[in-house]
Amino acid sequence: MISARTDLASMTILPPKEVAALAAAGYQTAAQVLDHLPKRHEDRRRFDLFPNQPSATAVCLRGTVIDSAKRHFGPGRGFYEAIVMDGSGGVFGSGKITCRWFNMAFIHKLIATGQELVVYGKVKDTNGRLIIDHPEFEVLREDDTAAESIHLQRIVPVYRNIAGLAQRRLREIIHLLLLSADPVTLAAAYEVAPGDARADALWQAHFPTDLAQAQAARRRFALEEFFAIQLNVAWRRFRHQEQPGRVLGKRTGLLTAFYQSLPFDLTAAQKRSIREIIANMREPRPMNRLLQGDVGSGKTLVAMAAMLLAIDSGCQAALMAPTQILAEQHFLTFRRWLEPLGVRVALRTANRDEANHLALDGTAQMVIGTHALLYEEAVFRDLGLVIIDEQHKFGVAQRAALISRGVVPDVLVMTATPIPRTLTMTLYGDLDVSLLDEKPPGRGTIRTAVRVGAKQSDITAFVKQQLARGRQAYLVYPLVEDSETLKVESATEAFAKWRKRLPAHEIGLIHGKLRPDEKEAVMRRFREGATQLLVATTVIEVGVDVPNATLMILHHAERFGLAQIHQLRGRIGRGEHHGHCILLTDGKNPDALAKLQVLEQSADGFEIAEADLRFRGPGDVLGTLQSGLADLRFGDFLADTALLRQARELANRVLAEDPLLDGAHGGLRPMIQEHGGIPQIQAPA
Ligand code: ADP
Ligand code: MG
Repeated sequence: MISARTDLASMTILPPKEVAALAAAGYQTAAQVLDHLPKRHEDRRRFDLFPNQPSATAVCLRGTVIDSAKRHFGPGRGFYEAIVMDGSGGVFGSGKITCRWFNMAFIHKLIATGQELVVYGKVKDTNGRLIIDHPEFEVLREDDTAAESIHLQRIVPVYRNIAGLAQRRLREIIHLLLLSADPVTLAAAYEVAPGDARADALWQAHFPTDLAQAQAARRRFALEEFFAIQLNVAWRRFRHQEQPGRVLGKRTGLLTAFYQSLPFDLTAAQKRSIREIIANMREPRPMNRLLQGDVGSGKTLVAMAAMLLAIDSGCQAALMAPTQILAEQHFLTFRRWLEPLGVRVALRTANRDEANHLALDGTAQMVIGTHALLYEEAVFRDLGLVIIDEQHKFGVAQRAALISRGVVPDVLVMTATPIPRTLTMTLYGDLDVSLLDEKPPGRGTIRTAVRVGAKQSDITAFVKQQLARGRQAYLVYPLVEDSETLKVESATEAFAKWRKRLPAHEIGLIHGKLRPDEKEAVMRRFREGATQLLVATTVIEVGVDVPNATLMILHHAERFGLAQIHQLRGRIGRGEHHGHCILLTDGKNPDALAKLQVLEQSADGFEIAEADLRFRGPGDVLGTLQSGLADLRFGDFLADTALLRQARELANRVLAEDPLLDGAHGGLRPMIQEHGGIPQIQAPA
C-alpha cells in the first residue's frame, strides 16, 4: 500500500516518463490523479448497433478496420480514412462505417487495416455514406477479451486526455493507483456523505458496475467540492458578522420626507428591499448585503433610501461607482432629488473641483465618488454606510479593505449583472441578498430583433430615421481595431465609414483604449446631445444613462455573450420612448443564432443569465465575472443546484457547531483560505 498523498516521483510505482506527464498536468500524488474523474463511461458489454442513419447523439461501436488510407483534397490538405466493419457481418445495421481524421498526421501510425477498434462519435450522412468525423477511438488488443480486462466486457471509463499518456494507459494507471493506494489516505477532511468511504466512491466513479453508481459517485465528489467552497463563503460570513457594527436607521424623518417628495410610488420590490435593508441597519452587526436588480429596476432609489436612513442617524454615507462618469451621473441625480430635502451631497473624484472641498471639510453628509474613495480615509469623518455600485468590477478584497478600518460600516453592494441563483450563492454567498425583480411601470419597452445578413443601406436608412426623430443611437462593435485573424469590422473602421455615410451628423467614438478623460469627454458630448451617434465597443456597458438614446445596433452580435448583450441593451429604453435593439449576425452558426433568439423572446435577466451559462459554459461566464470558480472539477453549477444547497447547509451546520474550526472540525481548517477573490478549493492536508 502506498500513501495516496505521497509524491509519485518518490515512488517506483510508475515509470518516470509517466510521472512527468502527470506532473505536467498538475498531478503529483495518487490522490490527485484519482480525482481525475472520467468525462464519461462506455458500456463495453454491449455496443451500439452499426447505424443505418445519421445520429444526433454519439454512438459507441466495435468493429474491424477493413480498409484504411490517407486521402488528399488539394495540396497539403488531407485526411486519414478508415472503414470499420461490424463484427456481426452486417446482420443488423449497414454493417460499415467510415471514420475520418483531418489534419492529424500521426493517425496512420495508430490505426491499420485488420485492427479491432472501439469508436465513439456522431454519425453523419455525406452523399449517402455514413461517416464519423474525428471519432474518439481505441485500438483493442487480443488480451482485452480476458475476463479481468479493464478495457472491455465492462463499463469502461473514458478520460479527458492528459498529454503524453494514451487513454488506455491512463486507465491502467488509475486502476493501478486505486489498487495500491491506502484507502485511509484517500479520506477527505470531512466526510460529506457519511458511511460512504471516499476510497469506495473513487472505485465507483472510475470503475462502476453500473452507470447509476458512477453518477452517484460523481455527485458525491461534487458535493465535497461545493462544500469546500461553501465553507469558505460561510467562514467569511461568520467572521464578518462577529464584528461590531452600529445601529442605524432608528430615525426615519428624512426617509418619510423623501417618499413624500417622489412623483411616483415605489415598486413592491423596492419597498421589500428597503424593508430588508432597514432591518439589517438596525441590528448591531454590520450589514453586508447585495442588491441585485436588472438595469432600470430602480436600484439607485433604494440606495438613496438607505443613505438617507444612515445620515438621519448622524453619520456619513458614501456611494462608490466604478467610473468617474457614473459617479458624476449619480451625483447629479442625488443633488436633484436630495438637495430639496436639505441633504448636503458632495462629489469626490480625481477631478478636483469645488464640490470636493465640501467633502474634505467634513460637512458633507453624502459623498459620491469612484472606488478610489475607499482608500481615502481623510474624506470621512464618520462613515456609517457604504454603497458599492456594480459589484463585478469590485472584488471581495476591496470589500475586505472597508472592514479593516475599525468600526465597520454597513455595506450594500449593487449589481445589475444578473447571474443564476446558484452562482449568487457562491460568488456572493457571504452576502444577504435583496432582489429587485420588478421594473417601474411606464417605461418605454425595448424591442429586440435578430437580423441575419442585413443590407447596409437598410441599416443606414433606419439609423437616419431615428436620428431624424431627434433620438440618439449606439452602434456597437466587438473590437476596437482591425484584427489580422478575425474578419470582423472594428469600431475604429466603422467610425470612419459612418462619418462618410452620415456627413450631416456628429458622431462619437468610444472604446477601452481611450484614456479615461478622453472617454469622459466623448460620453459627456453624447449625454448632452452634442453627438447623436456613438460608435462604441462594450465600454458603454455599465450604467450609462442617456434617456434619449433609443436605438442600439450590435454588429457581429454572435461574438457577444447573452448576459452582456442584455446589459448593453439596458442602455436604451431608459426614457419614455420605445427602444430598438438590433442584433446583426451572419447566421453562419446555428447555435449562435439560437442563442441570440433568446434575447428576442426574453427580457428577464435571470432567465438570460441561465441560458448564457448553458450556451457558453461556466468557464466563460465566470471568467468575465471573476475567475477561480471556473475550474470546478466535479460539480456543475446548472445541474447541481440541489447539491449546492446541501453543501451550503452542511457548511453552515459545521460552523454553527464549531465556529472557529478549532474543535471537532479542526481538520477542515486548511480548507479555509481567507484571501481576496473567490474561495479556492484546497485539498485538505
Ligand atoms: P438601475 O440603477 O437599477 O438601473 P435606476 O435606479 O437608474 O435603475 O432607475 C431607472 C429609472 O427609473 C430612473 O430614471 C428612476 O428615476 C426611475 N425609477 C426608479 N424607481 C421608480 C419607480 N418606483 N417608479 C417610476 N420610476 C422609477
Ligand atoms: Mg444603476
